Amino acid sequence: MDRAGIYIHVPFCRSRCSYCDFATGAFEAALAESYVGALARELESFELGGAHPEVDTVYFGGGTPSLLTAEQVARVLDAVRGRFDVDARAEVTLEMNPGTVTPERLRALREAGVNRASFGAQTFDDRELKRLGRTHTADDTRRTFRDLRAAGFDNISFDLIAGLPRQTLRAWGRNLEEALALGPEHLSLYLLEVHEGTPLAEQIRQGRYQPPDPDLAAEMYRLLVERARAAGYEQYEISNFCLPGREARHNLKYWTGAPFYGFGCSAHSFDGARRRWSNERDARAYLKLIAERGDAVVSREELDERGAGAEALFLGLRLLSKGVDLAEHRALYRFDVRADHAADLARFGEAGLIELDGDVLRLTPAGALLSNEVFAAFV
Ligand code: SF4
Repeated sequence: MDRAGIYIHVPFCRSRCSYCDFATGAFEAALAESYVGALARELESFELGGAHPEVDTVYFGGGTPSLLTAEQVARVLDAVRGRFDVDARAEVTLEMNPGTVTPERLRALREAGVNRASFGAQTFDDRELKRLGRTHTADDTRRTFRDLRAAGFDNISFDLIAGLPRQTLRAWGRNLEEALALGPEHLSLYLLEVHEGTPLAEQIRQGRYQPPDPDLAAEMYRLLVERARAAGYEQYEISNFCLPGREARHNLKYWTGAPFYGFGCSAHSFDGARRRWSNERDARAYLKLIAERGDAVVSREELDERGAGAEALFLGLRLLSKGVDLAEHRALYRFDVRADHAADLARFGEAGLIELDGDVLRLTPAGALLSNEVFAAFV
């Protein structure tokens, strides 16, 4: 039986970054305390039913989970362990923002069982950080990284964003040098997206910044692939790079169709087969639902065989070296990609975006860059 992953959403931040459209709001200590109580209640009330009770990854995402105290994180982890059978060697990740954690808190988090830090570095250029409305500086990033190592964290991931307002290819190259020189075990790349309703969208409308340039973003992506490879990192997923054996085990569950259960506002879950469900997005409405009935599920969906097959195909293709075995896929979903998408396969093959190695379909490096166009044909 597949082991499941647990996702815990923490919807608080010190302030809002100009590009952000995540489910997050301003941090208030009292609200955070009630929220942790609600998470514990939601976990206690979770009906295991046909769920996979064995868990080997826990991921605190947000928001800024590092704004919780170590004691609050420990309480949530106790509630996870109370409901699920958590492997002693489970990967327990906490997203952190530089400058939000002291060395003491990092040691306490490590003692509570957190063993991986996913770290929102974004860029090492203070002017770029300021334009994004981030509250940290590049020095905070360097210091927090050192503090993490001193606290015993030997599995650290950096998030980097490419295509920032006024960011040049040269500045991006300097950024990569800094990030790679620190030697994190894992790197995640985000290309800046402009979401309607965010301050950044308004700043672009007013002409203060240019909208992101897709050609420049593609150059930045290529540079990262090249530099990361040269530094010994493997590009195991379209936007994720790791030192050997340091893949994000939790995120692999999303791409391989393993079960995962989400707790907290806006959290999503998947039973590893056909059923998906998601929680209320708003934090206060979530608290109310948990107080009333112990869960905050507001939408449920059951995929049909075809939908599940299409989803498994495009998620599997994200794993660049592994790809998707089309014979296995056909046996599992009765969805014959070769027959049903013969014209798409030929078209993308000729364009050099995909390659077929026996039964295994993979994206090429050029296909990784244009993955959305490939996926759109299959979904
Ligand atoms: S820290 Fe992350 S979640 Fe919080 S506002 Fe900034 S981008 Fe959004």
